[in-house]
Amino acid sequence: MDVVSMTLRGRAGAAALRAKYGRDEVAAWMRAGRDRKYLLQVDPRGELPEVERQRRADDARRADMLALAQRSRVARAARKAENDNARIRAIVDPPAVCPVCVPFNERPRWSTSRYCAAHLPRR
Ligand SMILES: [Zn+2]
Repeated sequence: MDVVSMTLRGRAGAAALRAKYGRDEVAAWMRAGRDRKYLLQVDPRGELPEVERQRRADDARRADMLALAQRSRVARAARKAENDNARIRAIVDPPAVCPVCVPFNERPRWSTSRYCAAHLPRR
């Protein structure tokens, strides 16, 4: 199953869950699960004092969020670079379209006119 299908399936499942139990209820479960995950990660045997456990769990969560922020930043920069490249390519070497075949409002933003063989004006 491709990524888009999996994403949509997951989102549909999450929406169905919220529809059944209410979004506040579901959000509370998610928060509780997340908190449990980090508490278990930093202190699997429950040996630390409560204050220290909480502090470490907060830092573990912060570490995860910062790692996510970094991945997001890299992905956004990659998307931006791709977009910038496409714009520069379109200006330096604009695609040619036949002005008869392609209506004005369907032409790429940066394009040049070049009649196709069928619409080449006769001289
Ligand atoms: Zn044409």
